[in-house]
Amino acid sequence: MNGCVFCKIIKGEIKSEIVFEDRDTIAIKDINPQAPVHILVIPKLHIPTIVDIDEKTSTSIFNAIKEVSKILNLNSFRVVNNFGPDALQTIYHVHFHILAGRKFSWPPG
Ligand code: AMP
Ligand code: ZN
Repeated sequence: MNGCVFCKIIKGEIKSEIVFEDRDTIAIKDINPQAPVHILVIPKLHIPTIVDIDEKTSTSIFNAIKEVSKILNLNSFRVVNNFGPDALQTIYHVHFHILAGRKFSWPPG
């Protein structure tokens, strides 16, 4: 989609550090990491939010999360999806944050 940062990353128009990629999904390092490990798992289709995801895409996202955890040897991590303004979603091309490498608090702020 025109003007979408993640579509540009997927097309290679904006540089990113790719940690995993398959036909349907890409996983990149977050540009503004909130933990020592901060990866974004992004479907290649421009799907705006979590409630727009279809079954095939959700399967590929969960597989990508598992593959990233193996590649980076993560034995503990948090997965976050921010949906909508109250949750501070800033990019309306759905993505899942994988955060690791430090202790997290619960409940989240
Ligand atoms: P959210 O607030 O859940 O929509 O998350 C958007 C995330 O995208 C933030 O953590 C940003 O740091 C990250 N981000 C924005 N632009 C880029 C980029 N060019 N490369 C990698 N991560 C990015
Ligand atoms: Zn997009």
